[in-house]
Formats: sequence, structure tokens, C-alpha cells
Amino acid sequence: MGGLPSNKYAAVCAAGHCTVYVQVGAGVRVRQGDRWQVYCPADAPQEGGAGAGQSAGTATAHSAANRFAGPCMECSVQVEAGAGVLVPGDDGKRGVQCPVCQVVAFRCERWDESDQFGTDPWIPDAVLPGCAPAISLRILALSRECWKCKESTVCVVGLYPMHPARTDRWARWVDKDVLVWVRPLLAGAGFEKIAESIKPRWSSTVNGRYLSNGCQRCDALQGDFPVEEAVFDLVREDGVDALDTLLVVEVPTPMWQRVVHGERGSGSALLM
Ligand SMILES: [Zn+2]
Ligand SMILES: [Zn+2]
Repeated sequence: MGGLPSNKYAAVCAAGHCTVYVQVGAGVRVRQGDRWQVYCPADAPQEGGAGAGQSAGTATAHSAANRFAGPCMECSVQVEAGAGVLVPGDDGKRGVQCPVCQVVAFRCERWDESDQFGTDPWIPDAVLPGCAPAISLRILALSRECWKCKESTVCVVGLYPMHPARTDRWARWVDKDVLVWVRPLLAGAGFEKIAESIKPRWSSTVNGRYLSNGCQRCDALQGDFPVEEAVFDLVREDGVDALDTLLVVEVPTPMWQRVVHGERGSGSALLM
């Protein structure tokens, strides 16, 4: 018997020169200082090296792979049987976690400064094995009175999976980075007027230009702050369905996971 314990979390190999993405159980974990590091088999430190002895008595329950296919409890991306892990949700029930959300959780928990403030992307561009390549999302909108011309105007405000996991309860706020790719999707689906009204505008509140919702009639900026406030009030009362579904789109999985987690695990604003 013996050997180093296998890794509980998928992660990029901790060896400086190596960028291999190590799936759960495919590598080893080694305790270094006060944290666990994951290594691919090729870079696994020799047993008996620094810290290896400490791990011997640490009996940790290995997270089980998911026996059934299901949506990831965080990003709602469909995960095939065996491709994710089962983790406890905030309601205490176990749910499936996809390998990407697993790594983000691991890196957030580990909170290594050079990792947090590094430059490598946390969300891989390639879809990981066993995860659906795309997800259906509802583009959520709010019709409200333009502060300037008093006509009704449509603001694009949120994204929410068409088939959300039980634990994925709140829509995500559409910020200026998300509007960049939402705008052409709207234009392509016949919402040219709304798409054209999304453009860079000057805001004195933020003292800069940003890609913003505007009035379809008079072009006045519909500022993030007042719109967000109106959205929060509605959603708090009646949930996601208080907003209009403008369109349902198929979006590549990594694009959606970047919305969910932010580039480096900072997350997106939840409409709740
Ligand atoms: Zn996920
Ligand atoms: Zn107007």
C-alpha cells in the first residue's frame, strides 16, 4: 500500500512548468505548508518528501462522482454521469458540481495570492469532458418608463438558464462585458431596435463611457443604478419570472461560466 493520496479537487497541476488540468482522482495531493497542492502523476513529488508524512493520518471523505447526469448546482450546465462530483448544496442536499465550478471553488477556498491576482484564466476555453458544450439561457428584460421622454423602453438586465439546477435560483445581472455579446444575439433574432439602443454612452455618475441600455425612442441613457434598483425590487417580490424573457439563446458553456464566476472567481451580481 502507500502512495500519496489522490486529489479530491480537479485543479491545474501545481508544478510551475506544468499546465496539465488534473481531474479528480487522476493526480495526487500533497500538503505543503498550510495548504493542499494538486500535482499531475508526472510531476508528483516523491513520497516521503516535504509534508507527505502529515497526510497519512488525514482521513478525508472523497467526494463521490455523480452516478446520474444532471445540471451543475452552480452553473446549471448539464454534466454526464461520472463527469462531476457530488457536493452538499446550501440546502444541505447533495448536488452535482461540474469540473469547472469545482476548480473555481477550490481556487477560491485555497486563496493563494499569486493565483488570485495572476493572469491565467480560471475558466478554460475548451469544454471539459462530460460537460455540455452549450447551455440555453433566457435573456431577461425589463420594460420601464424612460426618465426623459416618459415612453416605455426595454432594458436588457439579466441571464438565467432555461433549465436551472434546483440550487441555481437567481438570475445574473447583465453588465457591460456581457452586453458586448448579448447585443449581436438580439440583433440576429429580430430585436434590432433594442440591440441598437445598447451602445457606449457617457455617464456622469461613473464619470466615463460604458456600454449601456438606452431609450429606444429618445436614446437617453438608462443608467445601471436606477435600472438595477427597479429589477431588484421586482425580483425580490416575484422571483425571476417577474422579468420578461426577451429571447432564449444557446451560449457556449465557457462563456456562461465566465458570467457565473467572473474571470477569476469574483462572481457576478445575482438578481435577488
Ligand atoms: Zn458548474
Ligand atoms: Zn426616452
